[in-house]
Amino acid sequence: MKDKYDVIVVGAGPSGSIAARTAAEKGLEVLLIEKRQEIGEPVRCGEGVPRNALLKFTDIDPKWVCSKISGARLFSPDGNKFELREKNSDTELGYVLDRKIFDRDMARSAANAGAEVMVKTQATSLLMDKGQVCGIRGISRGECFEIAAPVVIGADGVESKIGRWAGIDTTLKLKHAATCAQFHLTGIDIDPSCCDFYFGSSVAPGCYAWVFPKGKDEANVGLGMLASMTDRSHPIQYLTEFVNARFPGSSILESVAGIVPVQDTLPCISTGGMMLTGDAARLSDPLTGAGIISAMASGRISGNVAADAIRSGDVSASSLAAYDREIFDTIGRMISRNYKLAMVVSRMNDSSLNIFFGTLKSRGMEKVPLSFVSDTIFNPGMPLFKILSKIF
Ligand code: FAD
Repeated sequence: MKDKYDVIVVGAGPSGSIAARTAAEKGLEVLLIEKRQEIGEPVRCGEGVPRNALLKFTDIDPKWVCSKISGARLFSPDGNKFELREKNSDTELGYVLDRKIFDRDMARSAANAGAEVMVKTQATSLLMDKGQVCGIRGISRGECFEIAAPVVIGADGVESKIGRWAGIDTTLKLKHAATCAQFHLTGIDIDPSCCDFYFGSSVAPGCYAWVFPKGKDEANVGLGMLASMTDRSHPIQYLTEFVNARFPGSSILESVAGIVPVQDTLPCISTGGMMLTGDAARLSDPLTGAGIISAMASGRISGNVAADAIRSGDVSASSLAAYDREIFDTIGRMISRNYKLAMVVSRMNDSSLNIFFGTLKSRGMEKVPLSFVSDTIFNPGMPLFKILSKIF
């Protein structure tokens, strides 16, 4: 570890690794630090990801693909099934990943591009000069350190502190948080090519439960619930009830809990010498909770903006505002639109949800290919009224 780099990236999740890789590919000296001793663990993720979006950042390596997905089934509160498939059942629309291997591979790609990667190394505060970020203080294997860098990228996940240390309000309000619980189950009867989603107030208030296959008889089974919409204490209780009813006799290999931000785009995600990416910038999709692709996309944009800013010798807030603009024009537009949709869906009671799914069915929406629905939801350019007019 040196005492000065061009860019320090804090956090080696998907956003940090892609930010570090991009900046290193541009010829910058990059340090990527991760506070945990192992990159990728523990996994707090359903690990589902759309194929075409992922291909923009990496070739697909079979060693981190657990399941190839070609369909989705949505279950309404009254138990009716709404199924979306590709015409060709061999089509790979998405994957359920093994993020322990995937995250490590992404960090490896940053290292291969020239970034220095350090685990067990935690940022504890920011170095500031005249109100501008100029490095970090941290602790690495028990040793305190200070490292200077004109650009720090805060890729430190949903519990991010980098933004707050730099003076950006990233407080996640209770009403903007979905609390989630997930079991990795084995010994279950599932369709390994299909992701299932269950809706209803008794299953997952304000959100949904998911079953994402990880092989032929294993799956990530989890749920989120809007913290503001339940008086019961913990999503684990809901999940236990769901699993007992849906998968009796199954065994739990892993249990995790986590938070997904359900909010509109933050008004500002950079300042002089600092950019926030991925979950740290609250860039996960408020409708689906998906955040891997936005994390990687924002990581790439931040790496490119860092390279341009450093080359021009201007890492001021106004220079790095180019990052905010590009994010708002792409991921930000998708988030703002899907936040509005999420608010509508989360307020639907069970009978409205039953009517909603009944309407979709009666309009023949099951014949629509899943790829079309997925592309629509994640397409930043598709206005809300167009989505609604396609449904009704
Ligand atoms: P993270 O992956 O959280 O990485 C941040 C890293 O920063 C961590 O490794 C952390 O240890 C490190 N770090 C934090 N502070 C410091 C510090 N001070 N110093 C050094 N390192 C630090 N998204 C999907 O696309 N598909 C899904 O199926 C899906 N399912 C989900 C299920 C659950 C239960 C949850 C909670 C989330 C899910 N998500 C899903 C969201 C997805 O996991 C996140 O959006 C994604 O991991 C964000 O990536 P990131 O790189 O921004 O942050």
